[in-house]
Amino acid sequence: MLAGACVYGADFSGTAALEYTKKAVSFGPRPPGSDANKKLQAYIESQLKTLRCQVSGDAFTAQTPVGPVAMRTIIAKFPGASGRAVVISGHFDTRPTPGGLFAGANDGGSSTGLLLELAHAINTTPHTDDIYLVWLDGEEAFGEWSRTNGTYGSRHLADKWSQDGMLGRIKALINVDMIGDKDLGILWETNSSPTLLRLVWETASSIGYGRYFLGSRAAMEDDHLPFLERGVNALDLIDFDYGPNNQYWHTEQDTIDKLSAHSLEVVGRVLMAVIGKLQ
Ligand SMILES: [Zn+2]
Repeated sequence: MLAGACVYGADFSGTAALEYTKKAVSFGPRPPGSDANKKLQAYIESQLKTLRCQVSGDAFTAQTPVGPVAMRTIIAKFPGASGRAVVISGHFDTRPTPGGLFAGANDGGSSTGLLLELAHAINTTPHTDDIYLVWLDGEEAFGEWSRTNGTYGSRHLADKWSQDGMLGRIKALINVDMIGDKDLGILWETNSSPTLLRLVWETASSIGYGRYFLGSRAAMEDDHLPFLERGVNALDLIDFDYGPNNQYWHTEQDTIDKLSAHSLEVVGRVLMAVIGKLQ
C-alpha cells in the first residue's frame, strides 16, 4: 500500500544522497590509509554527531600486498528495543590506483552518500530493532582482487562481531555497492540469501520501483560474503553494468556526472521500506 511507502520511504531524499556523494568525492581519491580517506571519515562522523546514534570505529592494520595499511570502518547504531539488529553496509574507500586520478563517484562514493542520507532518514523513523549503518573501509584490492586482497573491512568486522556475539543478533545484513548509476539496474546476486532477495524484489515492486531490480543473475564477491560465510542472512545490492560494457567501472570515467539523485532515491526508499518490513 502507498501508506507503507510513505511511512518508510518518503523521508529519504535522493537529492540529499547525491549531495553527500559529491562531498565524499570532493576529498579526492580515498584509498585506505590516505589523508583523503581520513578526512572523509571525519566528515562522516561530523554528520553522525547531529543524529540520535552511537558511533564507533573498527580500526585495524591490514596485511596487504603493499605491506601493512591502517584501516578503519565506521559504525553508527540507532538503538531499538527488540535486541535484534538490521545492518546496512557499504564501502567508503576507493580503489588504490598508481595515477591517483580515480574519483570513485559510484564505486565508493554512492554507497557513502546513500548511507549518510539513510542515517538522516532512520533518525526520524520509529524502529524496534537496532539499526546499524556501516561505512566499510578497505573493500578494494591493492592490485589484483582475491579472497584475501579486498573486503578487508568486512572480513575484520565479521570476525569482531563473531567474537562479541553481535552476529547472532542480526536479522538481515544488506550491503550496497555501485548503486548511483543513472541507468540503474540491480542484479539478482546469487550468493545472497534467497529470502532476502525475494523480500527486496517484492518490496521494490510494491512501491513502483520493480523495473530497477532485474531478473539478470550473477555471483558477485563483495562485502556481504564474510557475513554470509558465517551464516548471516545477507544480501548484496549491486549494479554491475556501469557504462557501455561496464567501462566506467574502475576507470577515470567513474565520475559524478554518471550518477543521478533518482537512482539513489530508488535504492534508499526501497531500503527504508525493507527495514520497515523487517521490524
Ligand atoms: Zn570497486
